[in-house]
Amino acid sequence: MKCVRIHVRGVVQGVGFRPFVYGLALENGLSGWVRNTSGSVEIEVEGAAEPVDRFVRELEAKAPPMARIEDVSVATFEAQGHAGFEIRESLSEEGRYQLVSPDIATCSDCLGEILSTDDRRYRYPFTNCTNCGPRFTIIEDIPYDRPKTTMRRFKICPDCQSEYDDPLDRRFHAQPNACPKCGPSLLLTDSQGANVDCDDAIQAAAALLREGKVLAVKGLGGFLVACDATDPGVVTLLRERKRRGSKPFAVMMTTLDEVREHCLVSTEDAELLTSPQAPILLLPWKDQSSVCREVAPGIRHLGVMLSYTPLHHLLMRETGLPLVMTSGNLSEEPIAKDNDEALARLGDIADYFLLHNRDIYARYDDSVFEVRAGVPQAIRRARGYAPYPVFLPFKARQVLACGAEEKNTFCLTREEHAFVSQHIGDMENEETLESYLDAIKLYQTLFRVEPEVVAYDMHPEYLSTKYAMDLKAEAGGDGLLFVPVQHHHAHLSSCLAENQVTEDAIGVVLDGTGYGTDGTLWGGDFLFGGFRSFTRMGHLEYVPMPGGAAAIAKPYRMALGYVYSLLGPDASLEGLPLDEFLRPEELGVVRQQLARGVNCPLTTSAGRLFDAVSALVGVRGTVDYQAQAAIELEALAPDDAFSMDLAPYPFGINAQGDVTVVRLGELVAAVVDDVRDRVAPALISARFHLTMARLVLDMCRLIAGRTGVRLAALSGGVFQNRLLHRLVCTALKEDGFRVLTHRLVPCNDGGISLGQAVIAHFAAG
Ligand code: ZN
Ligand code: ZN
Ligand code: FE
Repeated sequence: MKCVRIHVRGVVQGVGFRPFVYGLALENGLSGWVRNTSGSVEIEVEGAAEPVDRFVRELEAKAPPMARIEDVSVATFEAQGHAGFEIRESLSEEGRYQLVSPDIATCSDCLGEILSTDDRRYRYPFTNCTNCGPRFTIIEDIPYDRPKTTMRRFKICPDCQSEYDDPLDRRFHAQPNACPKCGPSLLLTDSQGANVDCDDAIQAAAALLREGKVLAVKGLGGFLVACDATDPGVVTLLRERKRRGSKPFAVMMTTLDEVREHCLVSTEDAELLTSPQAPILLLPWKDQSSVCREVAPGIRHLGVMLSYTPLHHLLMRETGLPLVMTSGNLSEEPIAKDNDEALARLGDIADYFLLHNRDIYARYDDSVFEVRAGVPQAIRRARGYAPYPVFLPFKARQVLACGAEEKNTFCLTREEHAFVSQHIGDMENEETLESYLDAIKLYQTLFRVEPEVVAYDMHPEYLSTKYAMDLKAEAGGDGLLFVPVQHHHAHLSSCLAENQVTEDAIGVVLDGTGYGTDGTLWGGDFLFGGFRSFTRMGHLEYVPMPGGAAAIAKPYRMALGYVYSLLGPDASLEGLPLDEFLRPEELGVVRQQLARGVNCPLTTSAGRLFDAVSALVGVRGTVDYQAQAAIELEALAPDDAFSMDLAPYPFGINAQGDVTVVRLGELVAAVVDDVRDRVAPALISARFHLTMARLVLDMCRLIAGRTGVRLAALSGGVFQNRLLHRLVCTALKEDGFRVLTHRLVPCNDGGISLGQAVIAHFAAG
C-alpha cells in the first residue's frame, strides 16, 4: 500500500480538475480525497504502489484541456485507510490567490450537443462546460463561484443542477452551466433597440447578413460587428461607418477546410487556429479567395479566426459565408460590452443588434497571432491568453507597471507571476482610460495585488504616465516607490523576461518612437543591458520630423525630413513620386520648418525610416493606421528576392565616441537614385529590407566586440515586419549570435508593461 499527498498549482480551478481527479482515482481503484484550496488543489490517494504511480503520472498527462499545470509536488505518507474517494469542501486561505482561466473556445463535446437535434441543448447559444466557455470575462472576484459571476441572475434548473452536482459529469461545478430552460437568451433588435419579430433570432440574423446588412453581435468580451466578407459594398460601407480608413478587418470562418480555401495554412497555423485559444491568425491570403480585397486592402495576409462560441458556430453555419468580425467600436475607442452601451455607441455602425442577457464583466478583444518559423507570436494578446501570467525567472515584488500609450497593456507582478493585462487599446480617449482603470482594479482584486512599486514610461504626455503621476500625488511621500522606465529599455527587458533570460544582452530595438533619457525621440536604438540598467551603445542617425506628430500620419513629410537633412537643403525632388501628396504651399512650409528647426523634433526611429522609404518609392504618402506605409512596403518585396543575390544599399557606421551612429545619407541617396532610375519598387523594397538586416548585423558585431556578449534580443514594433524579422534572425544566427525574440507578449508596445515591471522590481532593490 502507498499513500501520497499531492499539491497541484496552476489554472486548476473552474476547469473540471476535481472531477477529472475523481474519475482518475476511480479508474485506478484508489481511495482518498481531493479539495480546492485558495492557492492550489490538494489530493490524497492511496492504494497499491503501481496504480498510485500511474495516477501521479496521468494527473499531468491527461489533465483537462483548460487546466494549465505549473507545479506538482508529491509527498509520501503512512496509509490512512480511506474508504472510497470523495470530493471535499473547499478550504479558503486568507491572502492566497489563484490563477484565473482565460475564456476558452467551445469544446468539441459542446459543439456536438448544439448540433444534434435530440440534445436538450440543440441550437442553444450559451452551451458550455468545464472544458470551455466564458471564465475571466464573467468573474468579479475569487473564489470562482456562480454568485461572484454575471451568471448569478440566472436560477439553475433541476437538470442543470444535477449535472453540476455529478462528479462524473463534465459539467460538475461548471459555474456558467445553463440550458434553454434556465440560462441566458438572445434578442434581435434594430439599431434603435426595438425588437425584431422573429421565431428564431439566429436564423433571422443570418438572413440579414446574407442580405448585406451590418450586425452587431454580442460575444464573449464585447460586441463584434459582422458583415458578409465576400461583399465589397457592405465591407466598404462598414469601413465608412466605423471611420476606419483602410485598416484591415478580421474574418471569421466555420471550419479549417474553409480557411484553407482562402489562405495558406501550415501545420502550426492549423494547430493554433483550432486550439482552445482560437486567436485571429495572420495567414498568407490566396489570390482565388472569395473574401473581397476591401477587407484588407494592400496587404498579402488575412486575419482569420474560427468560431469560438456556440453563438458564432450557429450563426456562421446558418449564414454559410465568411464574415467580417471586427471589434464593436468607433475608430480607436474600447470595444462596447453592455447592451445599452452598444446600442448607444454602435447605433450608427450596425443596422441590427444580436443581443443577449448574460452580462460581460471584463472587456476582452480577440487576440492576434502569427506563426513565424513554426513558432506562434503574439501581436495582440487578449482573449484566450490573458489573464494567464507570463512566468518570471525570479520572485517579484508586487509591482504595477502602467504600460505605454499605444496598444496599452498594464502588468501586475506577484511571486513568479507577471499578470500582463489583456490588450486595452490606444490611450487617447476618456473611454479607453476608463476601461484601463476598471481592468487594473479587477486584476488587483483577482490576484490580491497591493503594489509597492509603480513603473511608468518616461514620456510625460502618455495617459498611463499621467495616471502614475496621479497615484504619486495621492500617495504623497508614503511608501509607494515610483520608477520611470525608458521606453526601449522596457522593450529589451520585456523580451529578456518572457524568454526567462536574466543576463545582459544586446538590445536591438527597432520601433516607432519612444521618449529617450535625453528628451529626444528614440526608436532605432542599440542598447546593451538587462533588468538592472542599460547603456545606449548606438542608434540610427537623428533626423527631423517636420511637424512632429503630423509626420507620423504623413510619411511624405518624413521623406522630406530625410532628404533635406541628409542630402542637403537644396536636394532636388525631381523624379520622386511626392507630388501626388505634396501641395507646393506645404512644401514651402516644410522647408521652412526644416531650415529653422521649428516644430521638427529629432528622432532615431526605425519606423519613420520605413515610412520615408515607402513614401519615396511611391507606395504610401499618408497612412490610415499605424505602420501602414511600412506594411505595404514589405508586402511589395518578392518572396524570392533573397535568392536573387541583391546587394544591400550603402550606409555608414560612425564608431567614434561613446555612442555609435549609423549614417543614413548614402542609403537615402541610393534609394532616391533607384527611384529616379525607375527601378521596380519591389526590388527597392527588397534591397532596403536587406540593408536594415545588414546594418543590424554590423551594429551587433561591433557591440559584441566591445562587450564580449553575443546574445541579441529583438524588440520594438518594427519587428512585426516578418521579412525584416526573418532576415535579421538569419543574419545574426549565421554569424553565431544567440537571438531572443518575442512570442508570448507582442514586440510592439503591448509588451512594454512587462519590461517596465521587471525593471521596477530590480530598481526597488
Ligand atoms: Zn464544452
Ligand atoms: Zn438548465
Ligand atoms: Fe515602442
